[in-house]
Amino acid sequence: MTIIDGKLISAQVKQELKIEVEKQKADGGKIPHLAAILVGDNGASETYVASKIRSCEEIGFKSTLIRRDSSTTEEEVLEIIQQLNEDDDVDGFIVQLPLPAHINVDKVIEAIEPRKDVDGFHPINIGRMAKGLPAYISATPFGVLELIKRYNIETAGKHCVVVGRSQIVGLPMSILMQRNTYPGNCTVSLVHSKTTNLAEITQQADILVAALGKPEFITADMVKDGAVVIDVGLTRVVDTTKKSGFALKGDVKFDEVAPKCSYITPVPGGVGLMTVAALMYNTLLSARKEIYK
Ligand code: NAP
Repeated sequence: MTIIDGKLISAQVKQELKIEVEKQKADGGKIPHLAAILVGDNGASETYVASKIRSCEEIGFKSTLIRRDSSTTEEEVLEIIQQLNEDDDVDGFIVQLPLPAHINVDKVIEAIEPRKDVDGFHPINIGRMAKGLPAYISATPFGVLELIKRYNIETAGKHCVVVGRSQIVGLPMSILMQRNTYPGNCTVSLVHSKTTNLAEITQQADILVAALGKPEFITADMVKDGAVVIDVGLTRVVDTTKKSGFALKGDVKFDEVAPKCSYITPVPGGVGLMTVAALMYNTLLSARKEIYK
């Protein structure tokens, strides 16, 4: 059994990006610039955005954080998006989710210029990805693909079961794993909360991607011997032994599932770190206009 080291791979990806940016700078090219909009005071969102800004600094990107309080209106958010769409210095930007309940998230995402949508959430990017056209691939599935690649995990002809069908993780993951490329060429099953025989399906998975947000939901009896298990789940649970008062839990009961696996991602230290690295990669692509020429 191999534990997939997201910390190591994300550090490698960031180091590679840093070298690329240094070369770009030396050649008189533009320094990639990522902007992030953070609305409200969600603790987890604060942490995620801080780590994205820190990664920009480490790699040598320019970053801008636009913070607004939870009373900000939808119109105000749409105005900020319009300004970023028109700002030639900003290559790509993200709106950190979730947004306060009074803001329509679909409206906000659709207002982002697809060329700057480095999170890959805009319907145009999702549609282009589904068609196999150049597109920003949303950061979490992109990070998972990169882990699969860097560990040379075979995917062709395998049965990949994705648990969860969210727009940002499960759905794109399922589309990517069936594509006629590597990683891909899997037979894909997408299961969700209305699936009646979920364990029966997960037991058939050669590659199991858990993205449902239910801590330790996937137990050993749901996993086939030798499976590759990718745990996307990241839930804060109360833990009084920690200084922060909480611990991060994945969707997989790691201790009992790991011995059955050929490969498994830990939480923390797995997919989460790759998500930020993938966003940085997309930002470099945006600065180089590699997706949209
Ligand atoms: P989400 O939007 O809440 O979607 C959860 C999906 O799981 C839904 O499709 C839901 O089904 C399904 N589901 C919920 N309970 C289920 C059950 N008992 N059995 C089967 N399916 C069930 O969540 P998300 O945004 O995709 O995030 C999923 C997890 O990944 C969360 O823990 C989140 O924190 C984590 N995440 C991590 C990263 C990272 O960087 N590592 C990034 C994004 C998300 P229905 O559609 O039927 O409701």
